[in-house]
Amino acid sequence: MSRPPAEPAPWWYPVQRGFAWPNEKRAAACFTFDVDAESPILFDHPETAGWLDVMSHQAYGPRTGVPRILRLLDRQGIRATFFVPGYTAERWPDAIRSIRDAGHEIGHHGYLHEGARSAADAEVEERRLLRGLEALDTVAGVRPIGYRAPMWELSYRLPALLEKHGFRYDSGLMDSDYPYRLAVTDDPNGPSIVELPGHWSLDDWEPYVYLPGLSGSGVIASPAEVIARWTLELEALVEEGGLFMLTNHPFVSGRASRVAGLERLIARAREIDGLWIATAAEIAAHVETLPLEPVIHTQPVVPPPA
Ligand SMILES: [Zn+2]
Repeated sequence: MSRPPAEPAPWWYPVQRGFAWPNEKRAAACFTFDVDAESPILFDHPETAGWLDVMSHQAYGPRTGVPRILRLLDRQGIRATFFVPGYTAERWPDAIRSIRDAGHEIGHHGYLHEGARSAADAEVEERRLLRGLEALDTVAGVRPIGYRAPMWELSYRLPALLEKHGFRYDSGLMDSDYPYRLAVTDDPNGPSIVELPGHWSLDDWEPYVYLPGLSGSGVIASPAEVIARWTLELEALVEEGGLFMLTNHPFVSGRASRVAGLERLIARAREIDGLWIATAAEIAAHVETLPLEPVIHTQPVVPPPA
C-alpha cells in the first residue's frame, strides 16, 4: 500500500548569517513589554475576577511596573514597544496613555488575551482582533500596525487576518533569528507582512511568574541568573547579526530588582558597537524595504498510523 509522501523540507530556509540592517548596523535589539495585567488570568480562569489577591498581583503591572519601566526607558534614552490587550487599555486607561505619551509604540495583543487555540474559526479570531483595535482606539487614539499573539499562540489563518486589517508586522513566530517576510497565502507572489520572531527563552514569564495553582512551577529565578542568560543571547545574536527580541511583562519584570537587572542589560546593549536598538515598528519598516522572498508556512500533514 502506498503512503502519502512526507511534506518536503522547507526550501526557503537559507543558511544565513547576518542580515541587511540599516546604516551599517550589524544586529538589532528590540525591547518589548506585554501589558497583560489581569487579561490572561481572567481569560483562562474567569473565577479569579473575585479573588483580590490574584487581581492585585496582576494590577502591579499597570499600577507600579509601567511607571517604573517608563522611568528606566527614559533614563536609558530608548524607545520600546508595548503590546496591550484591549481589556487592559479599558481597565487601565491612564497607564496606557502614559506609555503613548512617553513616545513608545503600542501594539495589539488581543482583547482579553485570548489564545488562538481557543478560537473555533476565523470569524472568532477576527472579532477578537477588531475588539482589541476598537479598545486601543477609544482609550488612546492609537491604531497599531503590529501584533503579538497572546500566549504566543498563532493559527495558520491569523496572518491573513492581520494583513486584511492593515497590520504590517507580527511578532511571535519562533523559526528564525532574523526578521522575514511572512506570506499570508500559499502564493509566493501574494500579500505578505513582516515577521519579527521571538522565543520563550527571551520571555520573562517563564523564569519569574509564580501564581499558586494558576501559573509557574514555584521556582522563582534570580534576576542575576535571568539577566546573565539574556546577555549571553544578546551577545551571541550580535555575532550572528540577528534580532534580539526581548519580551517582558510589567506585572512580572516591573519588580525593583528585575528592572535594575533589565537596566544593566539595556546599558550593555547600548555599549555594543553597531547594535541598532529600535521599536518593532521601526524594524518592520526597515524590513519592508528589503527584497526578501516571503516565507510560506505550510501546515504539515500528519501521516496515518503504521
Ligand atoms: Zn501576553
